[in-house]
Amino acid sequence: MNQNRLFRLTRWRLASGYAGVMGVILGLSGLGVYEAIAHAHWMTIDRELDTVAGTLHDSLEPVLKQPGRLEPGIKHLLPDVCAVGSNCSNVTNSQRHTVGAIHQGQYYMRLLDRSGQLVALAGLQPEQLPITSNQQEWQNLTDAAGIRYRQITFILHTQDYRVWGYIQVGRSLQDFEKYLAAVKWILFVGLPLAMLLVAGSSWWLAGLAIQPIYRSYQQIQQFTADAAHELRTPLAAIRATVESTLMLPTMSEQEARDTLQTTRRQSQRLQELAEDLLMLCRIDQQLRGIRQPLIRGDCVNINDLVSDVAEELSALAFAADVLLTSQIRVSEPLEVTGDAEQLYRLVSNLVVNAIRYTPCEGEVTLILDCCSHYAVIYVQDTGIGIAPEEQTRIFDRFYRVSSDRSLTTGGSGLGLPIANAIAQAHHGSISVQSELGKGSTFTIKLPLRGIGTTDNLLSIL
Ligand code: ADP
Repeated sequence: MNQNRLFRLTRWRLASGYAGVMGVILGLSGLGVYEAIAHAHWMTIDRELDTVAGTLHDSLEPVLKQPGRLEPGIKHLLPDVCAVGSNCSNVTNSQRHTVGAIHQGQYYMRLLDRSGQLVALAGLQPEQLPITSNQQEWQNLTDAAGIRYRQITFILHTQDYRVWGYIQVGRSLQDFEKYLAAVKWILFVGLPLAMLLVAGSSWWLAGLAIQPIYRSYQQIQQFTADAAHELRTPLAAIRATVESTLMLPTMSEQEARDTLQTTRRQSQRLQELAEDLLMLCRIDQQLRGIRQPLIRGDCVNINDLVSDVAEELSALAFAADVLLTSQIRVSEPLEVTGDAEQLYRLVSNLVVNAIRYTPCEGEVTLILDCCSHYAVIYVQDTGIGIAPEEQTRIFDRFYRVSSDRSLTTGGSGLGLPIANAIAQAHHGSISVQSELGKGSTFTIKLPLRGIGTTDNLLSIL
């Protein structure tokens, strides 16, 4: 429960960290996009104003004669120009179109004399827009209705290059501001929506990232509990033996020997268990790339190895009243790159199991064959067999089909996991076919030397 909380907390932290970072990135990107759009529009407006004002300035200057005087030539160029104080309502639409640029978009033009007094205007008529006579080129102004304008001012000269006054061309920023407000809204609504999506996907991704860690954590926990359980049995036996011996007032030599022998048997079991656990850890580390192989793989003759296993375990088979035979079905020696000692352990673990789980007068057959670049070793027995639902589990650490029976056979449930790990470390595999009450066949496949990556195979220790 506590571990679950720890993992949930870690998942939450991961997800919120990721969502936070994504939120900052999205926020900054949104701001950047907004600024870029605003800047691009601003530049376009300024360029347009500059062009319109420049064109008007260049067309007006050649007709100006007296500073501040509205020449008839100006009226000719801009029919809708309206001198201050005159009634301009008679400017018709047909006349208006001749002012071209001034009527395209929302432009106005103002002519000021040298003292900054308004002389004439054309185009838009903003409500009480302040008259700014200074020579500052670019200005932002606001009229009585609160509408903002962008304005550019140029000095006008007469034909004989005296200062006539100023020309001011401006443009309403209403459409520009409307557009920016729309962009702002899209960002304001879009960003939280995007953040919701990011938060959801962060939670999912964090779960995905944490899943293998959680699984391996659970496996480690299970492994530790199983190992402790296995170690406890011989330790308890040693302790009970020692305590009962200590309680005896006197002890014969035979009793002392019996006690020591029991203690030795249990400590031997402890030692084997510790060695098995150590070996599994080492193979695991090598398979996960944590530990480098210490020795380069030897060239192992599998024909010899199979014969040796059969010969050396014949005494065990004899003692169990089981017939152990071997068949080498290949004419040529099969060579595998790897660790001879561990490959021996791999085959012998399976043969020992076969003898162990075959009743008296049963048979165990060890067969060596070759199949498309693989050395194939079959360990067949006529034993008790394994139920289909157990066949996938027998390679799990500490798993025993029936703990009661394994107690009598003395197994710890590590024989098959070790064999499987050794096969994997040699880029090979183990599979099982079995029928309850009829027997089992374990098949080991090992890649032959010189095929693929087998030359680079690691040795186990
Ligand atoms: P153990 O040390 O208990 O034998 P193993 O990992 O070697 O552990 O085997 C796991 C289980 O697989 C055993 O408990 C046994 O029930 C089953 N098993 C292994 N080999 C055979 C076999 N040849 N026939 C029947 N059952 C087997």
